[in-house]
Amino acid sequence: MEQILGQIAKIKREKLGTEIPLLLFRALRHYTHFYASDLLGEKGANILLFNAGKTLGEDIGKSIHDDDLNQYLKNVAEFVEKEKIGILKLVELSDSKMVAQLDECITCSGMDNIGKRICHFEVGFVAGLVEHFLGKKVIARETKCNANGEGVCEVTVYFS
Ligand SMILES: [Zn+2]
Repeated sequence: MEQILGQIAKIKREKLGTEIPLLLFRALRHYTHFYASDLLGEKGANILLFNAGKTLGEDIGKSIHDDDLNQYLKNVAEFVEKEKIGILKLVELSDSKMVAQLDECITCSGMDNIGKRICHFEVGFVAGLVEHFLGKKVIARETKCNANGEGVCEVTVYFS
């Protein structure tokens, strides 16, 4: 899937540049989920976004790879902040799991409590980054979300 990343990274917009308003990203992100839910059911839409995020995470993981875990995590945090996805904080790291929080989450920061966690794409993205480094499948869950009234976006990854 790296060819997708290679293609979309080619941007030719001399006048308008590469930045877009966050509202536009959120519109694309949330309206896509809304209509994907219509077609596939909410669970199907969640899986679709999770898998898309995971594939992107794997591709980005390759492009910022480092054999040293601490350097890799640093690269990830720098990428996430530079691309304005959020401010990544590692909360817990053990042999069995990793917990990371995303302040100022691109998708959910500032949203009202709508009673559910919605950052499926971002959780998949984190899963893909971790799977790339470990070279094996992991289980990733969103364990806190601004849209669920929990004040932060948090992903827990279990290394099975
Ligand atoms: Zn969230």
